[in-house]
Amino acid sequence: MRNALGLMLASVGAAVVIAAVWFWASSPNVDLAVAATVSAPPAERLAATASAKPIPSSEDVEVTATIPTQPAVPPLPKTACANPDALGVSRVVEIDTTGGPGFGFAHFKQLDFLTDKEIVLTFDDGPWPVNTPAVLKTLADECTKAVFFPIGKHASYHPEILKQVAAAGHSVGAHTWSHANLNSKKMNEQQARDEIEKGFSAIKLALGAAPSPFFRFPQLQHGPAAMAYLGSRNVAIFSCDVDSFDFKAKDATQIVNSVMTKLEKSGKGIILMHDFQKHTAEALPALLRRLKAGGYKVVQMKAKAPLQTLAEYDEGLVKDMKLPAVGTRPVGSVVQTVTK
Ligand SMILES: [Zn+2]
Repeated sequence: MRNALGLMLASVGAAVVIAAVWFWASSPNVDLAVAATVSAPPAERLAATASAKPIPSSEDVEVTATIPTQPAVPPLPKTACANPDALGVSRVVEIDTTGGPGFGFAHFKQLDFLTDKEIVLTFDDGPWPVNTPAVLKTLADECTKAVFFPIGKHASYHPEILKQVAAAGHSVGAHTWSHANLNSKKMNEQQARDEIEKGFSAIKLALGAAPSPFFRFPQLQHGPAAMAYLGSRNVAIFSCDVDSFDFKAKDATQIVNSVMTKLEKSGKGIILMHDFQKHTAEALPALLRRLKAGGYKVVQMKAKAPLQTLAEYDEGLVKDMKLPAVGTRPVGSVVQTVTK
């Protein structure tokens, strides 16, 4: 009996240590990990650890834990790449976004940082059910990383999917609140600023952590006033070198062929795709295989520091969405089973 009890305690202790090490080692994004854990009190971290990795035992060890008010971003285990022939990441670059640098030769030719055959994968308009998770799975299978430019509204519909994007270690920027054309004559300067800031605040709200100061204009419509504003906010502007026009493609094959043909001409560059699009999600496994076979190398772009969102937009969004601004009561004190 004593032996059995000792064995049980030892295995529980070991499981807690393993879970703690797993939790520590599996934070894929340093910025997010810091943001998610620094403010959390020790009890909350313990709760997250316990609930994330239940002890597998038929002995039913009772684990009591308080429900965290703000669930932690579920980290994916940082394991070595299981695919020996994966496309992978050839190098990681850190972007100092001071002054709002522009990237992508379609509009910005000043910062020529990619060498021959180097590419950057970018995805716009998500997060969206089915398609975004399919894109994430393909990127994970190929052990490679991308930059995502989600729409604020979509982030508010599907925060759990956007959390998966960040947890997988991809960079997350923004693509306005409602995908409005910021260069339209109907759009005044204040409306353009609102679209930009509300988009970033919505993404922060969805992630529970600040996004990267990376921005892409809807339809690549660069309004001069909005560009100057982004510069003043130290947000990098992303155009592209290769536009897949995947939203117009009739099938996946057309997307693969279009990207490869354009890349053969440019030799390198930032590729614009849409994780929102079904055909893109379908095309990605074949496309990444073709890129690997063609000798292309993925460069991962990371921001040097996260964006400081503006409090008035963070607060305005919470009010708009009628979200509770303060802590919630535990479910047991709100919902009681009275008959069964
Ligand atoms: Zn878009």
